[in-house]
Amino acid sequence: MTAQNSGTPDYLQDVQHVARCLLDHPGPIVVLAHENPDGDALGSVLGLTRALRSLGKTVVAALDVPRYLTFLPQPGELIDNLEQWPADALLAVLDVDNNDFPRVAGADVTGFSGPVVNIDHHGTNTRKATAGVVDPTKPAAAMMVADVVDALGVAWTEDIATPLMLGMLTDTGNFTFDSVTPDTFLTAARLRGYGARMGWLTDNLRQHSRSYYLLLREVLGTLEFRHDGQVILARVDQAMLERASASWEDVESYVSLLRSAEGSRLAVMIKDYGERVKFSLRSRGGLSAQNIAVALGGGGHVPAAGATVNEPYAVARPLLDQAIAAELDRVPQTIPA
Ligand code: 5GP
Ligand code: MN
Repeated sequence: MTAQNSGTPDYLQDVQHVARCLLDHPGPIVVLAHENPDGDALGSVLGLTRALRSLGKTVVAALDVPRYLTFLPQPGELIDNLEQWPADALLAVLDVDNNDFPRVAGADVTGFSGPVVNIDHHGTNTRKATAGVVDPTKPAAAMMVADVVDALGVAWTEDIATPLMLGMLTDTGNFTFDSVTPDTFLTAARLRGYGARMGWLTDNLRQHSRSYYLLLREVLGTLEFRHDGQVILARVDQAMLERASASWEDVESYVSLLRSAEGSRLAVMIKDYGERVKFSLRSRGGLSAQNIAVALGGGGHVPAAGATVNEPYAVARPLLDQAIAAELDRVPQTIPA
């Protein structure tokens, strides 16, 4: 089975172009993703890296793997950070806009002047790479990587299919989000056919550390319900982390607990780093988390977006409240008939 056509008219051509750039490049290929990497970032990086290495390509993949995903990479497959650029490198940036410099992680890309390949599904992508596959109708970047792997002519193995399945699972909420299309299942079927280890992935993903639960107890103490329960918020700061012996990684999945609140249209997890504040936003019911994130200088997707405000909480919070109020004004709650 081959790649499905999709929402972007030139999708298959773009996939071919990206594969051609990767195949024709004689030098090393550096593979990076976004800061604070998630399953789609790691899965996309590992899938592409393993595929390219199977073709004999020299690949340097830099990604600081969060603890809950350390079960996936093999020792020595990834480095945390690229200190020195190899000569004649091609840069492949996955699951983030290659021009979104503060968000591209694993290396300092600001001075890089070689060819750049970008595979991303963020609606805010500026599409300025040497070759790119950017399709916001794809719920996971890993799906597009799967199509590129096909175009590379790589012999599929379960070691390539499994990380790409991880990317699909994470970014689709285990195939439960509205972003899931028939195409999504077709790609998942292909990966499963190539041996992607579903049960092993989900069993590993469902485990939480003790610090996760201890920190959750702290964070639930900050819960707020606003706008008649349409908006649910919680906050975490360094002191809470210390009391729970937790790390910022433990916070990642809390926003999805919040978004399950009955009657809520917006969930906000506030990460208070002291000098700056990161908002993780999830929306439903016609609201756009993306609009709120963009108003705060961030971005993302309509149902899931984020923004960092470089101000202390006391300054950043009113900005958030203002952006939320504007979005609620734009799409008032519809009263059921
Ligand atoms: P999260 O809340 O899980 O960090 O991010 C949710 C979504 O919004 C992800 O797709 C992520 O890539 C995007 N996102 C989060 N923070 C930012 C940001 O500061 N800028 C942009 N452009 N996107 C963001
Ligand atoms: Mn993604």
